[in-house]
Amino acid sequence: MASSITVNLMTHQTIARQYDLYINGCWTAPQAGRYRTLCNPATGAPLVTVAEADVADTRRAIAAARTAFDAGGWADMPPGERSRLLHALVDAIEARQAEIADAEMCNAGCTWRKATLMDIPVGLIHFRHFAKLADFDPLEPVPQITFPALAYNVVRREPIGVCGQIIPWNFPFLMAVWKIAPALAAGNTVVLKPASYTPLSAIKLVEAIHETGLLPPGVLNLVTGPGDVVGPELCVNPQVDKVAFTGSTEVGRTVMQQAASTIKKVTLELGGKSPNIILDDADLDVAVDGSLWAVFMHNGQACESGTRLFVPAAIYDPFMERLLDRAARLRVGLPEEGATDLGPLISAGQLQAVEKYIGLGIAEGATPALLGRRPTDPALAHGHFITPTIFTNVHNQMRVAQEEIFGPVLCVIKYAREEEAIAQANDTIYGLAAGVWSANIERAMSVANRLRAGTVWINDYHMIHAEAPFGGYKQSGLGRELGVWGLKEYLETKHIHVDLTRNRSDKFWFDIVAPQA
Ligand code: NAD
Repeated sequence: MASSITVNLMTHQTIARQYDLYINGCWTAPQAGRYRTLCNPATGAPLVTVAEADVADTRRAIAAARTAFDAGGWADMPPGERSRLLHALVDAIEARQAEIADAEMCNAGCTWRKATLMDIPVGLIHFRHFAKLADFDPLEPVPQITFPALAYNVVRREPIGVCGQIIPWNFPFLMAVWKIAPALAAGNTVVLKPASYTPLSAIKLVEAIHETGLLPPGVLNLVTGPGDVVGPELCVNPQVDKVAFTGSTEVGRTVMQQAASTIKKVTLELGGKSPNIILDDADLDVAVDGSLWAVFMHNGQACESGTRLFVPAAIYDPFMERLLDRAARLRVGLPEEGATDLGPLISAGQLQAVEKYIGLGIAEGATPALLGRRPTDPALAHGHFITPTIFTNVHNQMRVAQEEIFGPVLCVIKYAREEEAIAQANDTIYGLAAGVWSANIERAMSVANRLRAGTVWINDYHMIHAEAPFGGYKQSGLGRELGVWGLKEYLETKHIHVDLTRNRSDKFWFDIVAPQA
């Protein structure tokens, strides 16, 4: 795949700036004057300072979004016009894609290669798809109704209203697009809260949109700040109609509970512990490289990573020999270097959490066939780096096989029979994604059909398409993102009944007796 981004800024000091909140079409300081310094996870160097909103700031943003929605103009803009406007916004974002890629690298530790080949171009494709979907027909015909009388009925799709949107730190630009694009395409207004660690690419995205001057004030608002301050306000505030959350299952549970106080519409994209099943007829080289990509892409900091690898006993030894050999050759390094496969983890806390899980796996009896370590290269000394870990002799009930680690740790589980692999693959609280590797597509399809997951990849992994739904079974989430399924999550359904008869005897009304003369 060729990168469509030709300018590589690669400046770790791009952005010696302070960023405010974006409320009602203006950049505005937080009322308490608090800012937070963001650091580059690869070097520890300070990057920029970003506003720390409090509850009052969040309420200001919600009020702006409410006013913009209730005023009409945006919500009832003709779909074709809204679609054209959104295409113009994507053009503006695209014009700044190198800067956004740089922000993703410096702020989120994304390798330059992945940012420029995947995250930013894919995000732009997804945004454009929603710009196209915005031109939908809001009216849906209903079959003709004749009982108890002739009536014309129509179903109208309408925007839900004000959407509070909360996103995580692992794919900050893509997650911002997945939230903003369908919400705007459907005619909603938005308050977006990026993760505290990684707001920079979302800020750049909003800057690009702001500079077009095309979006009415209040339609899109950006509130950076602590998750446990801004997040709960978005969930409980009665002026917010829907909460869309991507993050951990633990926080997702809290979001759902908080949103219940006002019965908000809720969509949740949560954690995973995805099974990746090798069948005994798989092409070994393809399955080995695919499995490494499945688990170690972005250092395992992906919700749908293939973290539990099921390998059949019949090919276990040759498969593992290749897997370990190739995993040991993955290059951990600075994200801007073209040869780097794995950049840093997002934070010191995440690095410590991963190391704790490596210790736990060993204590549980798993064998560290490849043991992750902090690299000795002095160039990496100030970043949150760790090399990959591969555990063998893992049982599916071990905590390392059941809990989301969110780092470069693979659990390999040997199996004898296909049925056994499928049962264990499904034996998890999660159900986000899965992989199957086989030379026989019918066989792979039959396994895919029995996996309880929102997405199953056959002979590939991490392929997410603008046109296809993405979301979780079980405790991996509620609702779907992307495609028409993603758009529908931002639409209300209204039924309008138009009486076509004046005949009172066809109605169920009261038979009101006329007053006695
Ligand atoms: P997190 O749950 O810690 O935080 C997610 C967001 O919620 C952040 O913006 C955070 O500030 C905010 N938040 C924190 N406390 C909150 C509260 N009480 N109320 C409302 N919001 C609050 O997740 P993370 O560590 O940023 O990201 C990693 C997690 O995200 C993993 O579990 C991963 O699986 C999940 N994830 C899921 C998907 C998906 O599509 N299913 C995609 C990416 C990441």
